[in-house]
Amino acid sequence: MANQDLLRIAGVTTESVVDGPGIRSTVFFQGCPHACSGCHNPDTWSLDGGKEIQLEALLKLLKINPLVSGVTFSGGEPFQQAPVAVTLGKRLRELGLNLWVYTGYTWEYLLTNFDRPGYKELLKLTEVLVDGPFIREKQDLSLLFRGSANQRLIKVQESLAKGVVVPWQPSGMGG
Ligand code: SF4
Repeated sequence: MANQDLLRIAGVTTESVVDGPGIRSTVFFQGCPHACSGCHNPDTWSLDGGKEIQLEALLKLLKINPLVSGVTFSGGEPFQQAPVAVTLGKRLRELGLNLWVYTGYTWEYLLTNFDRPGYKELLKLTEVLVDGPFIREKQDLSLLFRGSANQRLIKVQESLAKGVVVPWQPSGMGG
């Protein structure tokens, strides 16, 4: 399969305040199978689009500095590149950063497919998962860090430990 240090991305943003709490850098993975009606980033769907980038070059692009509290994997669909997302996630966690991941898959789907390459490892690295497809009929601009009401902010480690979905709440220090 693919080189474990090579990712295909649609782009990155730095100093984001909309992809999770605090100041964050965001990686937009290229390739998405969900084809949500109303998707704001259809250019990210093709597995041939975007650009390939080595992990070390991507780390430089993310401009990690002391003000950055975390990194968000968005898309596209990060779980389509789960093995290399794990490699990147480990490096970021070693830098003391928390990791949020947006996925078009539901929490239940990911658990059912826990043994797919990288799925379990990526979840183990993730603080909060924003799950499920964007559903235009459930769009709500007032929602924090998500586009439609079906999507959940899930505290991953607590949810895995307890066997139930534990929601992340924006109070206090942000979970
Ligand atoms: S999961 Fe996200 S990127 Fe993929 S089609 Fe849905 S809204 Fe677009």
